[in-house]
Amino acid sequence: MKIIMLGAPGAGKGTQAKMIAEKYGIPHISTGDIFRANIKNGTELGKEAKTYMDKGLLVPDELTVKLLLDRVAQEDCKNGYVLDGFPRTIPQAEVLDKALNELGDKIDYAVNVDVPDENIVNRMSGRRACLACGATYHLVHIPPKKEGICDNCGQPLVLRDDDKPETVKNRLKVYHEQTQPLIDFYTQKGVLKTVDGTQDMQDVFAAIVALLS
Ligand code: ADP
Ligand code: ADP
Ligand code: ZN
Repeated sequence: MKIIMLGAPGAGKGTQAKMIAEKYGIPHISTGDIFRANIKNGTELGKEAKTYMDKGLLVPDELTVKLLLDRVAQEDCKNGYVLDGFPRTIPQAEVLDKALNELGDKIDYAVNVDVPDENIVNRMSGRRACLACGATYHLVHIPPKKEGICDNCGQPLVLRDDDKPETVKNRLKVYHEQTQPLIDFYTQKGVLKTVDGTQDMQDVFAAIVALLS
């Protein structure tokens, strides 16, 4: 099963993608996590991506597409995957579509996690991330067991640089301009499924599972 997660920054794509990946035994692929790992390791790609990410802008398609296509060509993706944060532009979606087409394959579902802009700034300012394992928490809604520490790996949790309110406003603008058109793109392909992302995390997940079966 090949699934794409769509939704504004902070809508809960990552949270749901992790649960889907676990339930269906497929890898969770987050381009944001891949960029953050590169930044942490000081790679050239990381340095370049950071200049865009810190401003709330998208990393250029040239850098993003190759990275993603290499990742989905790996052995563990044979039986499917859940993409979180890719595609984010129409050209990215077209490249993915073409690559899959050439293999006689396609995306099965594009899950749109719908959360209004008003809720997003709150979600983002409360988000705490583990840069070591990619887990995310929320100070109020989804707190870690021990304050400031990742449940999975024991590393300290941080407020991401790009989750500060000023940058979030920019990211929302970029989302509406460049990413939201993907909702029409996948509707036309007949694979779009929309869920109400303002519900509790477990209720959102139940709604997604119902749509996938
Ligand atoms: P969020 O959790 O808010 O949706 P991500 O972790 O997915 O954010 O992405 C963080 C940043 O990484 C984005 O704001 C963007 O700068 C960059 N990024 C991630 N995926 C892509 C992509 N597919 N295309 C371009 N930039 C991307
Ligand atoms: P995205 O990957 O779309 O940027 P995340 O999954 O990282 O979003 O979620 C953004 C923030 O909102 C995180 O702090 C997360 O813990 C929290 N969150 C996720 N789902 C819910 C939910 N259903 N209700 C409340 N908070 C949520
Ligand atoms: Zn962790």
